[in-house]
Amino acid sequence: MKILVTGGAGFIGSHLVERLVEEGHAVTVLDILKNGNKVPKETLRNINLIIGDVRNEKEVLDAAKGCRVIFHLAAMLGVDVIAKCPVETMDTEFFGLKNSVKAALLNSAEKIIYSSTSGVYGREAIMHALVEDFPASPNSSYSIAKRFSELYLKSIFQETGLNSFALRFFNVYGPRQDDRMVIPRFMEQAQNNEPMTVYKPGTQTRDFTFVADVVESMIRVMNMMSGHDIMNVAYQKEYTIKHVAEEIKKRMNSKSEVRLVEPADGRYDFETGRRFGSSKKMEKLTGFAPETTFESGLIQTIKYFQEERSLTALNH
Ligand code: UDP
Repeated sequence: MKILVTGGAGFIGSHLVERLVEEGHAVTVLDILKNGNKVPKETLRNINLIIGDVRNEKEVLDAAKGCRVIFHLAAMLGVDVIAKCPVETMDTEFFGLKNSVKAALLNSAEKIIYSSTSGVYGREAIMHALVEDFPASPNSSYSIAKRFSELYLKSIFQETGLNSFALRFFNVYGPRQDDRMVIPRFMEQAQNNEPMTVYKPGTQTRDFTFVADVVESMIRVMNMMSGHDIMNVAYQKEYTIKHVAEEIKKRMNSKSEVRLVEPADGRYDFETGRRFGSSKKMEKLTGFAPETTFESGLIQTIKYFQEERSLTALNH
């Protein structure tokens, strides 16, 4: 099957593309390569990589010719980046989605699968795992844009019948992620024996979901679902950020100090005290819920990080 993955050279995209190629699909990736190309060399030989911008209608329409499924993953990412670029964030979201939907309709594609975020739940105090019918309350340009896209996809399904799915990812981590996100950032600090910068109070929690489980969820939705839906993709357990830092320090035998610091500029407004999700809906509809333990995911991520490090050192 011919499949377009926007943002397919990024962290989650590259893992998805690898899996799609393994399963024999003909994959086109449209990516601006702003954060480099994370697709492994062997996979790269078997895909059609187009360097282009999802905001550009012509580029998206050209890339999507003949596609049966579009995974729309291209987005601005990283709290620090987004805080500095709220307009570009919305532009990428709005035009990227509009162009992907147009491409899907013109090609009579079967479905569009979109990467949303647990950020759409905002910073409401929660007592239980977040479920999809909990009111969305996005509070950053990024999460507002993502919520807008979810709603747009719902009306597109109602108005045109284009099957559309929005997956709300909860703090995805794993090999190839870069240090805009907390886990690779702590690994970098631990490796260099530098202070590990836990933003105060350090008791804030996140639900860390391993990238291979995210890919499995996307594949199931592609193969099994029709209609429109919004689903969480969450490991369903929460860990404090201080605990995460200590685990990484221990597992990397680092001499780093785990230090509580004031959050970086622009970060405070986005901070959420407690966040973990329920994947029950995903499990009910696809028979799968994220299952990689945090321990196993961390071990795999550290292994990748250290191998990359030694390769880079060898090449210099
Ligand atoms: N965080 C931290 N130190 C850092 C970077 C992040 O303590 O150097 C915390 C951040 O305050 C948040 C959590 O780690 O509570 C996850 O941050 P990330 O940017 O990875 O994702 P978010 O959930 O904020 O989108």
